[in-house]
Amino acid sequence: MTDHAPTDPKEYADGLKKVRSRRLFLWLVILIYLPAMMLALDSPNYKTWVTIVFATWIVVLIIAVAFACIVRCPRCGECFHTHGPTFLPFRRCLHCALHVNADKRAPEADSPKAKYGNK
Ligand SMILES: [Zn+2]
Repeated sequence: MTDHAPTDPKEYADGLKKVRSRRLFLWLVILIYLPAMMLALDSPNYKTWVTIVFATWIVVLIIAVAFACIVRCPRCGECFHTHGPTFLPFRRCLHCALHVNADKRAPEADSPKAKYGNK
């Protein structure tokens, strides 16, 4: 891995857009659980619907987590949310500390990784 000197974050816009869309999909899947389960519990045949909703939700959740795990950081090329076997959906790359909104923010003077040296 190279030193992450300040760079123009605009060149990462496409990659960061992909990271943000995967994060949004994951959070939407997580948030949809409660209303979907409440609707299933209100239905007359609730035992069947709860089973269907839960089974569908868990499959979609696995897919959403898998997509979020494998999305690559546009700066360092490593998995944005995964460090080894650990999945951490933080707002910064776990490898180079690129912020998920770096293309929308003012450029940082230097990388937080360089500032705090977490290696
Ligand atoms: Zn990175």
